[in-house]
Amino acid sequence: MITLALSKGRIFDESLPLLKAAGIELAEDSESSRRLILATTRPDVRVVLVRATDVPTYVQHGGADLGVAGLDVLLEHGGQGLYQPLDLRIAQCRMSVAVRADFDYAAAVKQGSRIRVATKYVSVARDHFADKGVHVDLIKLYGSMELAPLTGLADAIVDLVSTGSTLAANRLVEVERIMDISSRLVVNQAALKLKQQPIRRIIEAFESALPAVPAKSGQE
Ligand code: AMP
Repeated sequence: MITLALSKGRIFDESLPLLKAAGIELAEDSESSRRLILATTRPDVRVVLVRATDVPTYVQHGGADLGVAGLDVLLEHGGQGLYQPLDLRIAQCRMSVAVRADFDYAAAVKQGSRIRVATKYVSVARDHFADKGVHVDLIKLYGSMELAPLTGLADAIVDLVSTGSTLAANRLVEVERIMDISSRLVVNQAALKLKQQPIRRIIEAFESALPAVPAKSGQE
């Protein structure tokens, strides 16, 4: 049995056409079922539904053989024990710094200065500001990051941006683009050795399915 970990939402929705092109379809409707383990049309492949941030953990420890995880999640996890053979080019967006429109970001990040940054992505944010030589006080949040600059909790946020409408709705401006983000196929390294043939076949099927899914720009 090959177990593939997916998270509900964008990754799940955008993985299904790729799976289908790779000859794997869900045998049951994930919407009407509360089940977390879903059978597929391939008797040797099943899908497990986990939280996006838990996908690398499941695959790392063998709870799943493969998974689909955003680069944002992988960078925070660290990627230990994971083979990352493919950029699936789905769930594309960017990781950016955003501030209130009236905040002078350029002045605040002058060499040697110190700013407060709220984010779910503390590892990415720490590396980014270290590279710039900016001292940063990081405040870890788990959601609604847009609120942090509006309430005075932080000067800036580091968050995912897709269309930019969430930032605009909260009168925040994107002042720096840190990196492009997309979802990756991740594979448990031990499973790759023990179940080499079927896993290699799935990786190849995904790879040849890729052109079937139009690549979207991260700058929507
Ligand atoms: P948008 O308003 O289209 O710029 O989307 C921004 C919101 O959607 C933010 O709350 C992001 O955290 C979230 N978001 C955008 N793209 C993704 C993605 N690929 N994966 C997870 N969350 C995302």
